[in-house]
Amino acid sequence: MSHREKVLKLEKIISSQKSEAYPMHSRAHPLNRQPFDGASLFVKREDELGVFSMGSKIRKYRTLIEDLKERKVSKVVLIGGENSNHIAFFSLILKENRIEPFVFLRKTYEKELRGTRLLTHLLNTNIFLIERKDWGKVEDIAKAKQLEIESQGFKAEFLREGGFSKAGLIGALTLVWDLLKNENEIGSAFQHIFLDSGTGFQAAAFLLGLNFIDHKAKCHVLLLGGDTLEFERNLTFLKTVFESLLQDKLSFNDRNFELYQPSVGKSFGSTPKIILKQALQTLLEEGLVLDPFYSAKLFFEANKIIPEKNLKGNILYIHSGGSLSLLNYGKELMELKSQNSGPRNHQDPEL
Ligand SMILES: *Cc1c(COP(=O)(O)O)cnc(C)c1O
Repeated sequence: MSHREKVLKLEKIISSQKSEAYPMHSRAHPLNRQPFDGASLFVKREDELGVFSMGSKIRKYRTLIEDLKERKVSKVVLIGGENSNHIAFFSLILKENRIEPFVFLRKTYEKELRGTRLLTHLLNTNIFLIERKDWGKVEDIAKAKQLEIESQGFKAEFLREGGFSKAGLIGALTLVWDLLKNENEIGSAFQHIFLDSGTGFQAAAFLLGLNFIDHKAKCHVLLLGGDTLEFERNLTFLKTVFESLLQDKLSFNDRNFELYQPSVGKSFGSTPKIILKQALQTLLEEGLVLDPFYSAKLFFEANKIIPEKNLKGNILYIHSGGSLSLLNYGKELMELKSQNSGPRNHQDPEL
């Protein structure tokens, strides 16, 4: 099959799947700051998709919610951190569709109720707080709740952390479709693409889709939520799901991507000062609200990797959304702003 035929096949898979009409196009535009010779930096504005910068997540939701509706599911059991974007955003979507969420949350010890966590607590009534030490058992606890609900005569579903479910795959593949649209609009292709990963669902779907259409870009995936092994396992699982959609084998030998661990703020949810500085600098220079758990770390690492590996050509940073989380750091950010100093990378200008 030619590249063109493969693109058409992907488009057909996407358009023939019943899905909610959520936005699936986000802009890509050049960044103001262009510090690297021979490299043009662009950002893809997934942060502009959905309420409160729901971002790329809205892509998987478009087919995930449709699947639940089609199967007449009326209650959904979700698990995740108290600050999880997925819990807050998917609860909104469930409410809209009159599906009742039951949320099992990994307890945090933050005092102030704000941001994403506030949204989750405001809009949910069935909240079960789980101590960190018990989190290993959460899937069993949540599945027991699902059975309990079903025994009362309701159709219930349990969703894995981050909403990792094969029903979201076609939705997540719209990111590939949209990248091609961006390349069309810009009039040239991207050679390097940087994206972040939590459960790895969106990143894996993206890699599989690009591989299928023989896209030549090299992807650089920053693993923020899990390790390499976990990512590979999820990739293998989604590859099987994708192959059954394609009714064809995916030749995934020429794996044009690299996985990275963050060099700072390694544990998920940690926000070292240098990452908040990155977020503040990008806010001031680009007018972009980065997520301190995801895109701020992505921008920070990409700015290191590009000169280290001497990457050239059109380079795209995917801003996956989640901007609401930055506002949890008001005090720290205002302090940094008053110190008037950006991250002290050698290329960085003064703020
Ligand atoms: C959930 C989320 C991610 C990670 O998505 P996965 O598909 O779980 O890897 C990245 N960025 C933001 C802002 C998110 O909310």
